[in-house]
Amino acid sequence: MRASLERQKYLIDYTLASLLRRKTRNLGLLLVYTLLVFLFASALLLGQALRREAATLLQDAPEVIVQRIVAGRHDLLPADWLDHLRQIRGVSEARGRLWGYYYDPAVKANYTVMAAPERPLAEGEILIGATLARVRGIGVGDVFSLRAAGGPPALFKVAGILEPSSELLSADLLLLSETGFRALFQFPPERYTDAVLTVRNPREAGTIAQKIALSLPSSRPILRSEILRTYDAVFDWREGMTFLALGAPLLAFAILAWDKAAGLSAEEKREIGILKAIGWETGDILRMKLWEGALLSLTAFFARLSAGVVASVSRWRPPVRAGVERLGGAVSRLSADPDCRVASNPGVAGGDRRAVHHRHAGSGLAGGDCRSRRSNARMIELRAVSKRFNQGRPNECRALADIDLRLERGGVTVFTGPSGSGKTTLLTLIGCLARPTSGRITLDGQLLSNLPERFLTEVRRHTFGFVFQQFNLIRGLTVLENVMLPAYPLGRPHRALTAGARALLERFDLEPKAESKVEWLSGGEAQRTALARALINDPAVLVADEPTANLDSRLSREVLGLLDDLAAQGRTVLISSHDPLVFEAARVCRRLGMRDGRLIGDRRC
Ligand code: ADP
Ligand code: MG
Repeated sequence: MRASLERQKYLIDYTLASLLRRKTRNLGLLLVYTLLVFLFASALLLGQALRREAATLLQDAPEVIVQRIVAGRHDLLPADWLDHLRQIRGVSEARGRLWGYYYDPAVKANYTVMAAPERPLAEGEILIGATLARVRGIGVGDVFSLRAAGGPPALFKVAGILEPSSELLSADLLLLSETGFRALFQFPPERYTDAVLTVRNPREAGTIAQKIALSLPSSRPILRSEILRTYDAVFDWREGMTFLALGAPLLAFAILAWDKAAGLSAEEKREIGILKAIGWETGDILRMKLWEGALLSLTAFFARLSAGVVASVSRWRPPVRAGVERLGGAVSRLSADPDCRVASNPGVAGGDRRAVHHRHAGSGLAGGDCRSRRSNARMIELRAVSKRFNQGRPNECRALADIDLRLERGGVTVFTGPSGSGKTTLLTLIGCLARPTSGRITLDGQLLSNLPERFLTEVRRHTFGFVFQQFNLIRGLTVLENVMLPAYPLGRPHRALTAGARALLERFDLEPKAESKVEWLSGGEAQRTALARALINDPAVLVADEPTANLDSRLSREVLGLLDDLAAQGRTVLISSHDPLVFEAARVCRRLGMRDGRLIGDRRC
């Protein structure tokens, strides 16, 4: 359990380091992510907010509104209709309403103008919505000028600001006295825009509406439930449009995310290759990628959240909120004129195993425990091993053919041969980095060639340490981090692991470089780092593929000296090389010649 937690910690550490190494790319991704979360959240919140506002608003909406239709159009309603309506059974009150729209070129918006006989307003007085007051920068006592229907300006004194529970209702609302309204629009006397009814039993509203339609054939009764449906239609339509508009960036982002998941960059592929080679399981790598995705999306989410908090505590209002207010105007018009719902409001602005064995505690490299290590060293046997690449394709290549080989514990064995003779391929098969096409490989009698990957990784981790021709260190990480890397999936306690890694660095004279990034190392230092990394899990077998290929003779001797020391401690050292310096090294006890994928010589020294 503890090891598993420790392992996750290492993975997160590594993920963070890896995210930071590719700052620009990940930052770009993060920005797109944040923006999308922001847009979607805004669209959702906006829709929700509008629905709630609408619900609040409708609590006070009339049960039934009656309009007069002439030639299919909404027309003015004569005052005598009100008496007629009052006489219909179930109707307790019928009241004529006066309302209309006023286009203000100064703010390029339509106001909803209503007569408010229930308010004690004089002819020249006006009540205005809070949003409008804010936008126009006016307050109580100021003069509000409107252009009357006849042409001359009509001046109104602002008698108050409307601050109801729902700003949606009042955002762009102007309330006048009845006489003021009639004078402004030159509205004919004894005429109303429509009528609102109060009914005794709201459940009877439907029946009453039918009665009205029968007795006044040119009337059009509208029920509150119909208004509610209209709101829903408007909001659904708006939300739908917003999501549709967001569809394109979402698609682009999905492609980007897919590209990130599937189309790994060359650098990432190289890194994954190295991680697998040094003992990480595919599962560890997937977990790391999972952490990477989770960290990115969580950061995006919290970035959006903090932006929201900052925006709400400051006075800065993003355009979306401004959009809410504009939409609010539409809602108040809707409430005043349910008939003009979607169609007549087109201009409304949108809102926008270590379990197997864990025998390694510290670095374990202090020279004295030779015997125990010798007993840990393994015997490897290959029987009729062949390896073909690209099998069945025109570019099929036989890298190894019928190799029979027995490698004893301890000592330094060198595979020699010209380039392309199969040395690297043979070492990767021995080290469980690849499987043979045919034949059997056994380690201390245990058949390896048919083990599932998980177990193979396990064997590889604890038995083999690799040193590659190209060093294969992970750029962007420090020397210490690179050395610790193969141990991450084992979940060893951090303190012990760091101490072990530092002991190895000290042994290879790399301690002063512990915190340096590996890209700044010299060839010799890089190869010593690779050697330290190969030893961090205290393997019994050290496999070194052309370890001197990229080093001058002085550094080559130095590295060979270190390999000799390791063999002296009882480890089995397997080296591939075509460098005479290597074959001539003091401790080489066996030299195997290779050519064209076959063993052509076996000399014991
Ligand atoms: P050496 O290490 O002795 O130079 P290798 O083991 O690298 O030789 O290669 C042996 C042969 O196998 C070469 O002909 C090489 O081209 C081929 N080979 C090695 N790896 C692959 C691979 N992944 N795909 C195809 N061919 C390969
Ligand atoms: Mg090679």
